[in-house]
Amino acid sequence: MKNTTMPINCPACCTEQVFKICPSIDVQKNPDLKEGIFNRDIFRFICPECGEEILVAYNCTYIDRDNNFMVALVTDGDTASVETSNYTLRIVRSINEFVEKIALMEDGIDDRIVELYKIMLEDQFEEERQGVELLGIYYGGQDFENKSLVFYIITGNAENVRAILSFDTYETIAKQFDTYPEMTKHCSEINRIWAIGTLQSGFSEDS
Ligand SMILES: [Zn+2]
Repeated sequence: MKNTTMPINCPACCTEQVFKICPSIDVQKNPDLKEGIFNRDIFRFICPECGEEILVAYNCTYIDRDNNFMVALVTDGDTASVETSNYTLRIVRSINEFVEKIALMEDGIDDRIVELYKIMLEDQFEEERQGVELLGIYYGGQDFENKSLVFYIITGNAENVRAILSFDTYETIAKQFDTYPEMTKHCSEINRIWAIGTLQSGFSEDS
């Protein structure tokens, strides 16, 4: 791991401080850093002057050689610096997406199915819960007892709703991928925008 620092102006007391960052994480070499990702500690700045605590997103590449994937958090919009390799690459834009993507890839879940499912959940939520703001939907792990994937819907009124995608439904959607060559095109940004575009281009459950 390359350990480095970046200057940061504390938003509370306005003093200039030094923030220790991890721009590159090789999880097989530094397995202890994984916890720091999931609890966001590697993105947490605590001001030594005033104690202010904030999360700071910065360019960070995560490599898992055992599971053959890389997830790059790119905060400045420029993805040219992301090195290509033989690993499956995913580019994300926020800390929450970074954490979620690593969890999905580690669990061997097809993130394309997850993003499509989230759009279906969004539609369902808007229909059933009119007037409640939906802030985001995040993967919450596998529930082997109930043979399903768990999702958390974060709402504007601070209420967290749980949703599940059964392994059976997941498999049904997965099968449809085989008949849609467009879906398997190389793309490293699999997110909400990708899912909307894919659904608009004709991929749907009833087609
Ligand atoms: Zn401060």
